[in-house]
Amino acid sequence: MLAKILINTSVNTLNKVYDYLVPENLEQEVEIGKRVQVSFGRGRDLEEGIIVRLETEYELPKYKLKEISSVLDDVSYIDENRLKLAKYISYVYFCNVYDALKLMLPPGTKSKNSSKSLETRKDKKVILLKSNDEIMQDIESNVIKSAKQIQLLSFLMYTDNVLISDIEDGLSISRSVISTAKKNGYVDIIEVDKENDFLKDLEVERTTSLPPTEEQKNVIDGISRYIYDEEYKQCLIHGVTGSGKTEVYLQLIERVLDQGRKAIVLVPEISLTYQTVERFVSRFGNDIAILHSKMTVSKRKEEYKRIKMGKVNIVIGARSAVFAPLDNVGLIIIDEEHDTSYYSQTKPKYSTKDIAAYICKEANAVLVLGSATPEISTYNKAINGNIELFEMKKRAGDAKLPQIDIVNLRDDRIMGNTSNISLKLKAAIQENIDNNEQTMLFLNKRGYNSYLTCKDCGYVFNCPNCDVAMTYHKSNNLLLCHYCSHVEKNVHICSKCGSEHISSYNLGTEKLEEELKEIFPNITVLRMDADTTIARDSQQKILDEFKHNGTDVLIGTQMISKGHDMPNVTLVGIIGTDSLLAMNDFSASERAFSNIYQVSGRAGRSKKEGRVLIQTSDTDNYILKAVENNSYIDFFDKEIEYRKTFGYPPFIDILLFEISGVNLQDVKDDAEKLYNILNYNNQNEYRVFSPRSPYIQKLNNKFRVNVLVKAKLNTKIYSQMYGKIKIYNTKKKKNTLLSITKNPIFI
Ligand code: ADP
Ligand code: ZN
Ligand code: ZN
Repeated sequence: MLAKILINTSVNTLNKVYDYLVPENLEQEVEIGKRVQVSFGRGRDLEEGIIVRLETEYELPKYKLKEISSVLDDVSYIDENRLKLAKYISYVYFCNVYDALKLMLPPGTKSKNSSKSLETRKDKKVILLKSNDEIMQDIESNVIKSAKQIQLLSFLMYTDNVLISDIEDGLSISRSVISTAKKNGYVDIIEVDKENDFLKDLEVERTTSLPPTEEQKNVIDGISRYIYDEEYKQCLIHGVTGSGKTEVYLQLIERVLDQGRKAIVLVPEISLTYQTVERFVSRFGNDIAILHSKMTVSKRKEEYKRIKMGKVNIVIGARSAVFAPLDNVGLIIIDEEHDTSYYSQTKPKYSTKDIAAYICKEANAVLVLGSATPEISTYNKAINGNIELFEMKKRAGDAKLPQIDIVNLRDDRIMGNTSNISLKLKAAIQENIDNNEQTMLFLNKRGYNSYLTCKDCGYVFNCPNCDVAMTYHKSNNLLLCHYCSHVEKNVHICSKCGSEHISSYNLGTEKLEEELKEIFPNITVLRMDADTTIARDSQQKILDEFKHNGTDVLIGTQMISKGHDMPNVTLVGIIGTDSLLAMNDFSASERAFSNIYQVSGRAGRSKKEGRVLIQTSDTDNYILKAVENNSYIDFFDKEIEYRKTFGYPPFIDILLFEISGVNLQDVKDDAEKLYNILNYNNQNEYRVFSPRSPYIQKLNNKFRVNVLVKAKLNTKIYSQMYGKIKIYNTKKKKNTLLSITKNPIFI
């Protein structure tokens, strides 16, 4: 037997397939889609490959064919359809087929040395052996010196009892760092029985469908038509927060199952919580597989197997679950379709919506997108008739939309209030405390946290590896780079001018918590941000505690904006709005609008009326005006006009070519080369912009320069681009790297 094998190599032959013989003893094992080991080229190491074709009748070539060395997988997840999908991905996202296929393999499928040893029944956890005070002392007195040790221990001080795999993945800390900490007596590693997953204790009562509201009924009936006809269709449910979109999803899934077909439900990683999943499990029972990046790798593999073996009718998961090996898909739902987590930020940088649309088209299935604040390009397609639009304008049940007010911070300054909590917000929080109602304070994302700056010369403490300010964590006196995890212990002297006048700058969630406690010493406060939620379940625990213990205030980043029902939350304060409005990026406005609007939607989700206060110095801003009027359309109309005028998606496609490397001059030279090649013989079918440095010029010690192309992508332009990339690859320097992003969300 002859096998055609796609080799996993970074060599630029990209998608070339090679012939290998299948030795007799492996003939039973080989199957299309299974990974194998083969010797390739002159290297003595074995390379990994995927079988893409098997032939029993073939002609032997003149040269001697090599044999497959071993078969790595016991199950194949890749069939002809998947191969086709991989080819599509490789074409539209400029990646090689192998990288595209990797998306469809079970998570954690490691190359080489097969994975069988992973299947143990035990998990390993790390526990702290010393108190926080002892550790702090050792850090201050230089007993603990290594940055990695400090990073590990300071993390454990706040979240003890974590799985090794979580530490490795979440903090990018290697096993040897943990071993060192163990050797020095700070931690111990214990074996525990493997937790099934975060649904282990999910005891749910079965629920039946709610009688739909008028609006819900229209949507369900409208979309069901396509489900019954098994017709490919894209639908957008534009429904205000709390309009009952989830109930619509549930009833649509029921109909797909009635048809004997299956469904995939995608939610943003951040809202893939117990509560979300519970709503599906309570309706459909154990028919469901859940794919979550915080589940253990072996658990995710088990889920993959269950899906592949046909034991599952519904898959719920984040972005990558779109690749779940589910047969007979009749419906894919993408909830909160505007969420940026649907854009992969690692190679291949795909758009989940594009992939889902492709899969649905191939399978004659229905793609349902849902959001209160659809992505501009999605809504534009809906208006142009390429997506069928369904509107839901009212909240389900008795809940009313909240009252939204804009608070002018300039008034506070005139009154002499320099706190981050305006007088109006302060009064509103007080009123809520008096009424025993709960408050959420939303602070714009972590990147705008405290920096350390020098009061005398203005120096900002930057990461030595990256071109960004390090974030200051007051609770453990550390500076941390959120891009490369570089850690520095609290610095006392300015490294530029030697001054000792160092202060933390800007506003972080920790600092807000402090201010709040100063104003209201007796209230209970919880904080939820990327630092308090690294460990599995921590996000859920915080939300549960907030909901059930009646904590007065929850402070958080946009994490708190995701769909959890908190009936007693009647006040939402939005702080740090101005920095959200100031980001200069073509899609920044739409993210700002959806963030602010979604957070506002947290208020008044039950019978109690809700109130939202948005603090800003920019009271005339059109984004805030649209939020205040509860009008997505107001925002959309302005935004689409802007995109049209200045030539941005959806009117034009953007290709972002990024050259990176350790040597800045080489990177610049290659960018110039690429620019010239792209521009050569360009008949005005696309526009190439001169090389420029991105906002963050250095990341992880690599310099980056971008070349931007604006074009209306079609097959002709694609093939021109491929031709030019080929030429560039023959001329580029060895130590630079080219990566291409189609329609990036940040440029
Ligand atoms: P969305 O996903 O649009 O934000 P949800 O599906 O979470 O909205 O619904 C908001 C609330 O309304 C939930 O508490 C839900 O149980 C309730 N709800 C939804 N549909 C109905 C209905 N048909 N009748 C009564 N309550 C409903
Ligand atoms: Zn860094
Ligand atoms: Zn200084």
